[in-house]
Amino acid sequence: MQNLEKFREKIYVCNRTTDGYCLYRCPEYNLKGFESYGARGRMYIARGLLEARLEIDASLVDRISTCLSCGYCTQRCAFDLTEIFETLKGDLVDAGKGLDKYLQLGESIKENHNPYFKRQKDRLAGIEEKIKPTKGAELLYFTGCASAYQYPTIAQSTCMILNELGPNYQILGEEWCCGFPLIRTGQVGLAKEIAEHNLEIIRASEASQVVFSCAACYRTFAKDYPERLGLEVNFKSFHITEFLSREFEKHQPTFKGKLEGKVTYHDPCHLGRHMGIYQQPRDLLRNVPGVDLVEMEENKESARCCGAGGEVVKFGYPEITLALAKKRIEEAEACGAEIIASTCPFCYGNFKDTVKNTGAKLKVQDITEIISQVI
Ligand code: SF4
Ligand code: SF4
Repeated sequence: MQNLEKFREKIYVCNRTTDGYCLYRCPEYNLKGFESYGARGRMYIARGLLEARLEIDASLVDRISTCLSCGYCTQRCAFDLTEIFETLKGDLVDAGKGLDKYLQLGESIKENHNPYFKRQKDRLAGIEEKIKPTKGAELLYFTGCASAYQYPTIAQSTCMILNELGPNYQILGEEWCCGFPLIRTGQVGLAKEIAEHNLEIIRASEASQVVFSCAACYRTFAKDYPERLGLEVNFKSFHITEFLSREFEKHQPTFKGKLEGKVTYHDPCHLGRHMGIYQQPRDLLRNVPGVDLVEMEENKESARCCGAGGEVVKFGYPEITLALAKKRIEEAEACGAEIIASTCPFCYGNFKDTVKNTGAKLKVQDITEIISQVI
């Protein structure tokens, strides 16, 4: 437990304090009903591993690997628990005990530069018609694997909005996975290699601003690259909702269309709790003609995780994801919404699957899809 060692003191402080503020809203703890699935229990496990009193068996690997990195606990604790648990995942990987499913994601990223076992050369195939890139433009749109391969309507809508608003922008077909699934599952060495590739091609493009339609890519570039991987980032990163809010403030667009209905906004964990962006997505939605924005009971800092856990938990433990997503969909229905909007392709795909599985009468849309319909 080489890397966990640096958190030894914090782990002991937690074990002595045992206040348990972290447990109240932990989705895993509430779902499973066992303390070992919550942050306080995981901190006991961490101590047991540091003191070599615990054997690393399948049940222990599950307790650590199921953590969604949702950040509820970090918000209630004095420590950055997400970082501690992700470091612990890394030490399990180094000990040869990483979860197989997570290691498969790593294999795909190593071979194909995306976690979906798709070909790198097809990265832009779903959006080629919508792109109007300008070589050397100051602005660069980093599509991310999920928007490029799995949910291309998000990348298409982002391009359509940029086309309409008018700033020149670049898209690089050589972009690789940002490394988010690797950092969340403790495969940090490989994450650093691919991050260096991304930084190098962006440096060569001479872009000074990079915009992301994916909450996860945004967190990775803005926070993980400099803070977790120690890399120098020489451009400004913006989530698309930050970027559009700023643009709309400068030049209020003339909307050509109108949307009818009640919309509720789901805060993605990696945009909300992790990056503190709550207001801009709401402002953008309120700006859309015809939108009646309604809030779910749990919103902003308290928003429930959609259950995808940055897509990795969905890949490793689909039954957990489905159970948690169902709760969030029920919450959206309870507030009278007809549309649940988000700004993260993982939440988007997860809600789409859940609506299909449960037969819920709710439309799932990304904010870029909503705006591109009316702009
Ligand atoms: S809130 Fe933090 S210190 Fe308190 S029990 Fe939870 S993890 Fe430990
Ligand atoms: S990050 Fe989320 S799932 Fe993991 S321990 Fe904290 S509250 Fe629970």
